[in-house]
Amino acid sequence: IIRIEGLTMAFGKHEVLRGIDLAVTKGESIAIIGPSGSGKSTLLRCLNRLEQPSGGRTLFEGKEVLPATDMNALRARMGMVFQHFNLFPHMTALGNVIEAPIHVLKIPRAQAVEEGRALLGRVGLADRADAYPSQLSGGQKQRVAIARCLAMKPQLMLLDEVTSALDPELVGEVLAVIRDLAEQGMTMVLVTHEMGFARDVADRVIFMDAGLIVEEGTPAEIFSNPRSDRLRLFLRAVL
Ligand code: ATP
Ligand code: MG
Repeated sequence: IIRIEGLTMAFGKHEVLRGIDLAVTKGESIAIIGPSGSGKSTLLRCLNRLEQPSGGRTLFEGKEVLPATDMNALRARMGMVFQHFNLFPHMTALGNVIEAPIHVLKIPRAQAVEEGRALLGRVGLADRADAYPSQLSGGQKQRVAIARCLAMKPQLMLLDEVTSALDPELVGEVLAVIRDLAEQGMTMVLVTHEMGFARDVADRVIFMDAGLIVEEGTPAEIFSNPRSDRLRLFLRAVL
């Protein structure tokens, strides 16, 4: 679905990504782990062009992403879910979910409402469709954000530490939704500090440090048989 080659990103003189090669295949779920500041969020943001890379090539669905590419269309096909939900506070849960399908995909309102209700059901919130974000728990808000992302029928979902702003007892309900999506074949790249989750759900785990992919492999290879000292040290610190 997406392939990047030699991706670099610098903020001024500070090189945050120093040559990343990565290919994501349809149906795959990839977990990115690594220390704070290693460039994980920047990599996701470069994938959907919230951030303009300094160098390298990106191919999305077989086509090179160029300066002339319609970035809004690109982003519409790559859903992103953030740590801090970013829901519209003045809209209900359902309102949040149907907003982009109606205004971006130009889906008739009645159809968007029907699909939106189905999606809220899929994330376990069928009975909260009319609640406003301020009336929802963190875990519920994040599940609305996931439903909103799914409403755009993305080819690829990018999830950046979607549970790290949640109280511990709310993490499980959000991870369960993501696990279901992965099992249903959604292609996703997720940055997470939940190592147990990465091990369970990911087909492939990528360890980043200082703007480079230091190691990648199956969860078993990464967690049970780390090859580099840096990964061993990282795992010792977080597990
Ligand atoms: P964390 O685990 O803490 O979320 P991360 O791996 O996601 O970390 P990034 O957010 O990608 O790391 O940041 C990588 C580096 O880029 C950091 O040193 C950060 O300070 C820097 N950086 C990120 N965004 C910007 C920006 N807009 N301007 C300048 N520097 C930035
Ligand atoms: Mg980050």
